[in-house]
Amino acid sequence: MPDIVVVGGGPAGSMSAAMLAKAHDVVVLEDHNVSGTPLQCTGLVSPDVVKMSGVNPTVLNSFSKLNVHFPDGFIYSVDCKSERAVLLDRSGLDRLLAEKAMDAGAEFRYSDRCISCKVFKDSVTTVTESGKEYDSQIVIGADGHNSMVRRMVCSEPPRMQVRGIQLDVKHTFDDQDAIDVWLGSNIAPGFFAWTVPYEDTVRIGLCTEWSCGIPADFLQTFLRKAGLSESKVIQRSSGKVPIGLQSRTYSDRLLLLGDSAGQVKPISGGGLYPMMASAPYLAQVVEGAFSENDFSARYLSRYQKLWKKEIGSELKHGFTLRRMYNNLRDDELDGIRRIIDTPFVHDLASTATIDNPSSMVLKALRNIPMAMRLMPYLFKGLFR
Ligand SMILES: Cc1cc2nc3c(=O)[nH]c(=O)nc-3n(C[C@H](O)[C@H](O)[C@H](O)COP(=O)(O)OP(=O)(O)OC[C@H]3O[C@@H](n4cnc5c(N)ncnc54)[C@H](O)[C@@H]3O)c2cc1C
Repeated sequence: MPDIVVVGGGPAGSMSAAMLAKAHDVVVLEDHNVSGTPLQCTGLVSPDVVKMSGVNPTVLNSFSKLNVHFPDGFIYSVDCKSERAVLLDRSGLDRLLAEKAMDAGAEFRYSDRCISCKVFKDSVTTVTESGKEYDSQIVIGADGHNSMVRRMVCSEPPRMQVRGIQLDVKHTFDDQDAIDVWLGSNIAPGFFAWTVPYEDTVRIGLCTEWSCGIPADFLQTFLRKAGLSESKVIQRSSGKVPIGLQSRTYSDRLLLLGDSAGQVKPISGGGLYPMMASAPYLAQVVEGAFSENDFSARYLSRYQKLWKKEIGSELKHGFTLRRMYNNLRDDELDGIRRIIDTPFVHDLASTATIDNPSSMVLKALRNIPMAMRLMPYLFKGLFR
């Protein structure tokens, strides 16, 4: 009988397994036949994430500039002067994390889907599609946006969901140092679109908020706008992102990590940093649960307190900003741009990190004259 069953062999599952497998018997259940495929991510992270991952993923490119294309065509450019984001080989990252977990002793069972978990007084039983049953002390739900384990932990669905589509196309951008982001209801309603270059390839994609239609319907228009509609497509991917803090990420013998826990930055949809910032707390609390032989919800609730202390305010403020943004019309976004196009905001933006974007916005709002001018938009965004 394993001590721990991890459902999901993505980055969250592999990271938690790597942290726990040295001291415990860990089984990881993954429904695909390998970690990292199919790709469902751009792979854009801060350099800190590379360090936090504890492995050496291939860095395809690095970036110090951001160009934000507003609906009226204005391009708001921020030059950070030093590296602020890197583009990873995300499939490779997942494979390396899984190998690290295996090296620590975790056993991966691929191509088998977990279909149920039943919590008893002294154990939890996990059943897979192939009919295998695992009794363990605890189950970690690292099973992504459509988590089965989450449904056992908390009844509410994610507060918001976005759907994404992405292509890698053959094209060489002159400026290899800039990420471009497009805003507007005709391009990516309820989220944003992006182009990220690496060598002779551009990763181009967009996300839309669930109620705004499917992203594929907006892709052709965006490809034309970005001048890439004739470029050869070499890779295609799609996926969903849960947005918004969840009320519970633990219950008796169950813990959630990563997308299943809603650990995603609401402004960018980036989930790797929040998951990696939370994983050590999960490992710490699981270790404590084994030494105290206490797997109750009361004991495991420490995990949620710890991870929310670390990243909860970014996720909470980010969600408020995301809701406000989604409630604003294109002309109102352009209005905001005219107000924030100042040396003060450029300076702030050029020192910001992509892991805490909302703190940059909150700092900007401490400038009273600017906050007063933004007030009508903030009210519309909050109360419309
Ligand atoms: C289009 C797009 C672009 C993105 N870009 C970025 C980005 O640039 N930077 C960033 O930080 N984040 C990005 N993200 C988000 C990021 O991909 C996720 O936050 C991250 O993958 C979460 O990791 P995870 O391990 O929690 O979940 P996942 O990566 O989804 O892994 C969960 C795994 O569990 C498996 N699984 C699910 N259910 C079961 C089951 N019942 N039994 C067995 N296995 C199961 C799944 O097959 C999957 O392999 C993007 C997401 C999308 C959709």
